[in-house]
Amino acid sequence: MTANDSSPAETAVTDTRKRHLRDLRISVTDRCNFRCTYCMPKSVYDRDFKFLERTQLLSFDEINRLVGIFKDHGVEKVRITGGEPLLRKQLEKLLDMISVSHQLDLTLTTNATLLKQKASMLLDAGLKRITVSLDSLDENTFQMMNDMKVPVSKVLEGIEEADRVGFQPIKINMVVKQGVNDEHVIEMARYFKGTGHIVRFIEFMDVGSTNGWQMSHVVPSKKLVEQINEVFPIEPVEPNYFGEVAERWKYSDGSGEIGFISSVTQAFCQSCTRARLSAEGSIYTCLFATQGTDLRMLLRTGASDSTISNVIANLWQARTDNYSEIRTAETASLRKIEMSYIGG
Ligand code: SAM
Ligand code: SF4
Ligand code: SF4
Repeated sequence: MTANDSSPAETAVTDTRKRHLRDLRISVTDRCNFRCTYCMPKSVYDRDFKFLERTQLLSFDEINRLVGIFKDHGVEKVRITGGEPLLRKQLEKLLDMISVSHQLDLTLTTNATLLKQKASMLLDAGLKRITVSLDSLDENTFQMMNDMKVPVSKVLEGIEEADRVGFQPIKINMVVKQGVNDEHVIEMARYFKGTGHIVRFIEFMDVGSTNGWQMSHVVPSKKLVEQINEVFPIEPVEPNYFGEVAERWKYSDGSGEIGFISSVTQAFCQSCTRARLSAEGSIYTCLFATQGTDLRMLLRTGASDSTISNVIANLWQARTDNYSEIRTAETASLRKIEMSYIGG
């Protein structure tokens, strides 16, 4: 197994439900310049909060080495995330390393505050696609949700620049929370309709244990489909590939596509092929995990590729995760890993 080998996976693995390992989400930092109330509430992520030290973060070489090992197990797509991934210094170097060594589908999710200045560099470094998070176009609501007084225009400028340099289509993630921004769904759809970009409406999830999640805060995608359909008729579209997270719909007038991510009301565990690598090198086989497996220790104590490869294979083969299928008020209150740490 070599990091440069671009042949099909040599040691593809499946879990106890025959789910392949296809996607790797890599958190490159647990820090963020937003304090989204549903992700990093200020009451928890305050001045005293202890973020990871630099030495605790995986280096770019360590991440790139792991990507090669994951690729040998069947990973085809890598998403760089966080925290806010564009806060990680010289991220473009990591993207360049991964794209040169592994030729994978390389994507990134960002709040777009630094996208205006970095979009061109990201494209040159081999990034293929970008997802931008934007929860409302209403100034007060957006600033209330990011809780750092960042204006909507900052995100829109980032999207425009990413579009200009050639990232098309851009996916726009909107987490919909009952009574907070659910009134702004139509406005979001209208703004991006006809632009080629794809808005995805995401059900508010009980990730971590600090965001005060309650079922009553969730707006079921089904309801949003009905609301949007009344204003802009839409029709369902076949998934692009097995395991696609978003349910695809298109405007009947041909002016584009939207998506719905319904982790709460329509669990998609059966087709979940995602593993998550935290910024300090622990691997998680579910977004709602309560514990991970430390790969950094192996990397830093001289373990060979085949040793690390075996650890990953054993972990995936034993995987039974199905959190969204069994979610209850009790599971929601478990001490789960936070989204900003594990990577969204
Ligand atoms: N900071 C970047 C951003 O916001 O795009 C990347 C990391 S963020 C954790 C990744 C995605 O997770 C974002 O689209 C965010 O809106 C979403 N997210 C965070 N907490 C969530 C929650 N409780 N429920 C649903 N989506 C959530
Ligand atoms: Fe930061 Fe993204 Fe979490 Fe918002 S959703 S606090 S931007 S990591
Ligand atoms: Fe995958 Fe876990 Fe989400 Fe189910 S709950 S879709 S296993 S991450």
